[in-house]
Amino acid sequence: MTVQVHHLIGGEYVAGQGQHTISVTNPANNQPIAQLNAATEAEVNQAVAAAKAAQQEWKEVAVSERARVMLRYQHLLKTHHDELATILAKETGKTFEDAKGDVWRGIEVVEQAANIASMMMGETVENVARGIDSYSYIQPLGVCVGITPFNFPAMIPLWMFPMAIACGNGFVLKPSEQDPMTPMRLAELFEEAGAPKGLLNVVHGTKDAVDQLLTHQDVKAISFVGSVPVGQYIYKTGTENMKRVQAFAGAKNHMVIMPDADKQTVINQLVGASVGAAGQRCMAISVAVFVGNTKEWIPEVAEAVAKVRPGLWDDPEAGYGPLINPAAKARVLELIQSGKDEGANCLVDGSDFTVTGHESGNWVGPTVFSGVTPEMRIYQEEIFGPVLSCTEVDTLADAIALVNANPFGNGTSIFTNSGAAARKYQHEIEVGQVGINIPIPVPLPFFSFTGWKNSFYGDLHAYGKQAVRFYTETKTVTARWPESGIVEGQNLTIALK
Ligand code: NAD
Repeated sequence: MTVQVHHLIGGEYVAGQGQHTISVTNPANNQPIAQLNAATEAEVNQAVAAAKAAQQEWKEVAVSERARVMLRYQHLLKTHHDELATILAKETGKTFEDAKGDVWRGIEVVEQAANIASMMMGETVENVARGIDSYSYIQPLGVCVGITPFNFPAMIPLWMFPMAIACGNGFVLKPSEQDPMTPMRLAELFEEAGAPKGLLNVVHGTKDAVDQLLTHQDVKAISFVGSVPVGQYIYKTGTENMKRVQAFAGAKNHMVIMPDADKQTVINQLVGASVGAAGQRCMAISVAVFVGNTKEWIPEVAEAVAKVRPGLWDDPEAGYGPLINPAAKARVLELIQSGKDEGANCLVDGSDFTVTGHESGNWVGPTVFSGVTPEMRIYQEEIFGPVLSCTEVDTLADAIALVNANPFGNGTSIFTNSGAAARKYQHEIEVGQVGINIPIPVPLPFFSFTGWKNSFYGDLHAYGKQAVRFYTETKTVTARWPESGIVEGQNLTIALK
């Protein structure tokens, strides 16, 4: 019997009345493992209403009690770490170890949300005028919404609702319809941690549910992570409807390899950063930029990448799993073909790869191109597959110019033993997250996730202090308490005296 994925609305788990049924499939064989009914208009309205009602109570709960819910939640998530990773691996195809990493990076945000009291501190200035003090509070917005992608079904919802709720908001999550079971388990554990019913609601569906949330009068802020076209649409529609929006989108991340870098370190780091998680990471390295004579290392890079063997989630030898669905596989294969047609050298070709006994899965083997130039589609487009494009430049300045000309700005890294080269790169590169001898520089939650350019639309980023600013409003008070109880005279100017 197929598992029915429920919505969570006002603390109740409901299958929903929606007529649009969506199948959740195992990417390793495309067989259904669950199904969901896309939320109806009434169900989305109920979820927002539940979040709004719960938030009215929640915003009055002491900040340290809000923090305690997060403390209990992070503990429960750790207790259920392997169980969550198993659910996640089965519905995404990720290897178990990688699935554990997905859950762990989310847990770290919950740990940070447990520090909410110090992050909610406002500012004070005494004597802004004689006998007058000014101070500010930050207060929650009301109902916030999260719309999340398939590729990190634990980490990315956990970027959003713990911070929003710790700030005193209610929340409606619309997770990816392709792997909704992990977020549902996250939500169940959140209630188990003591979160009041209705504070976190989960509705499933696709564009219809999202459109309703984008235009709902009671929704104040929208956090989105996903592809560029949808991110642009969410940002435009949300802001047109006067919502606060942060929209994280696609990427094309470059690793710059300097001649003074350690060759073996570069090769080791590049393998996992390029084809790990089948390249379905927004911070994956999809372009390796070989500076000067490091181009001679390309055959050894290709040889190392070629050794990675995809496989099933519970195969401890598997380097990564299948792509999420047949359309994703078809798109990656089409892009690999375009690379060949446009004249890149396909050093390792994963187009025909399959896993014996699981031939119907969405497998793509590790693939490496050399001689890639900026005019080629494999350079211009986000492939979101296990494909590494190698390109060559003469100098660090050329590498910087290449990366800065790219419309994306999510992550980048430089491998070098020169502090001066690293300093120049970190200073001049127009990318929001920079690794120095670190291939995938995802910031920990006391910082924020700071993509730039077409990788992010908005201004305040995910988690860390920026998330607290995103999910709150600032209120500034100017106060006078004269000892006499009387303010003498009249003031017809705007100046405080
Ligand atoms: P997607 O854009 O297809 O879907 C993301 C979410 O939007 C899902 O919940 C989906 O149901 C919803 N959606 C899809 N089409 C919609 C539409 N027309 N209108 C309204 N909502 C719609 O993305 P995906 O394929 O799930 O995820 C992969 C993408 O996410 C990649 O481009 C990747 O780079 C990006 N991503 C970015 C980051 C980041 O931090 N920048 C992190 C992870 C993933």
